[in-house]
Amino acid sequence: MGVEPNERVARLYEEVVRRNAGQAEFHQAVREVLGSLSRVLDRHAEYAELKTIERICEPERQIIFRVPWQDDSGEVHINRGFRVEFNSALGPYKGGLRFHPSVDLGIVKFLGFEQIFKNALTGMPIGGGKGGADFDPKGRSDTEVMRFCQSFMTELYRHLGEYTDVPAGDIGVGAREIGYLFGQYKRITNRYEAGVLTGKGLSYGGALVRTEATGYGAAFFAAEMMAARGDSLEGKRVVVSGSGNVAIYAIEKAAALGALPVTCSDSSGYVVDEKGIDLEVLKQVKDVERERVSAYAQRVGSASFVPGGCVWDVPCQVALPSATQNELDETAAVQLVRNGCLAVVEGANMPATPAAVDVFREAGVGFGPGKAANAGGVATSALEMQQNASRDRWTFEHTETRLAEIMRDIHARCEAVADEYGAPGDLVLGANVAGFLQVAEAMHAHGLV
Ligand code: NAP
Repeated sequence: MGVEPNERVARLYEEVVRRNAGQAEFHQAVREVLGSLSRVLDRHAEYAELKTIERICEPERQIIFRVPWQDDSGEVHINRGFRVEFNSALGPYKGGLRFHPSVDLGIVKFLGFEQIFKNALTGMPIGGGKGGADFDPKGRSDTEVMRFCQSFMTELYRHLGEYTDVPAGDIGVGAREIGYLFGQYKRITNRYEAGVLTGKGLSYGGALVRTEATGYGAAFFAAEMMAARGDSLEGKRVVVSGSGNVAIYAIEKAAALGALPVTCSDSSGYVVDEKGIDLEVLKQVKDVERERVSAYAQRVGSASFVPGGCVWDVPCQVALPSATQNELDETAAVQLVRNGCLAVVEGANMPATPAAVDVFREAGVGFGPGKAANAGGVATSALEMQQNASRDRWTFEHTETRLAEIMRDIHARCEAVADEYGAPGDLVLGANVAGFLQVAEAMHAHGLV
């Protein structure tokens, strides 16, 4: 006791770094949230006394397991699987699975930590967790992916349950992978427990709009941010990175709201199409043929492909980074500001580096942090769980209306809390504080667990 909130938070961060050595992305995510919390400790001394922040930074449970599988030629491979069950104060652990060669414990912990606050912001009864494996589905046949998913679930199933832990997709985990994972869970447990995974196919308990939800939600959030500035998305040039689930549907909804999305990308480079991205072609290339994004430019006359280029060099008024963490650095941020960008909205998790966020803040560019702006995906997952529990199915229109309302509420709540805590317009602070307060209150009520 007797320690100033700023000093307490700084010491706490040092301790997180010491106890979680080498987990750079996790440190970054913690630092970003802690940066907003000294103002909370000023008003809520009880959270210092109860060490609520210290407890939030320590996952409730971390599971690491071997995933052996055989490829089509009979060669044996060993991957590493992870599930970090971070916080269950608000509900069962909820958060996606990522299959990408870069996945390690630090990445899963950064994503799981962010997920706690994001899920709280949705207002739905879901806790925070995340998982995945250092497996690369790219270039693998469907049968290889199926064998991997079956082996992965053969260990993970014992930790899951509709009231315990409910995974979904993320990078490298889409409808195909969720189908194989669900099939193996059902086979092992002999239970048709639809609510144990979200992002399911429509033929077996999936919800309409879940596929589109993260991207649509990010576009709705962008529209709210523009409206708060007395502007709109109408006629705005939009630059989007990525060409996966989030990017495709962010492009679709931004275009539907009157904007002109002109780019998409993958790890090989970016495509620019001055006429606006043709979604039918993009979906065929990425979702059906599982091709590289350069194939788009080969088919569309108005498009060109820039191998290895930086998509943030393309002039725009709104930027929607929707690929991966730390893909938008300080140099890219300066370029966006120079080109007249008005708002940056994170479709991906933590795509802007801390230095990039500082550039936007100083330049007065609107900034929508991922834990608020991309919360539409997990919110719609919660709507999927609701439909599974009630054996019901809602229409596309009904679910999309709910999604739009949720995104409007999240934006309004972030703005209100930012105002209340003396940082008007700072949606980073608003999201962190609003999410934290909700989780902290529930943890307080549950006692020291
Ligand atoms: P996805 O469908 O697998 O697509 C990922 C896209 O990002 C691909 O175009 C991929 O290109 C690109 N990408 C991935 N890693 C990259 C890297 N290291 N460098 C450059 N490009 C890279 O995944 P997604 O579901 O759209 O997820 C994208 C982001 O949104 C992630 O940050 C994820 O955590 C976040 N998110 C997703 C959801 C959801 O519902 N899916 C919800 C909230 C947040 P390559 O094919 O070349 O790798």
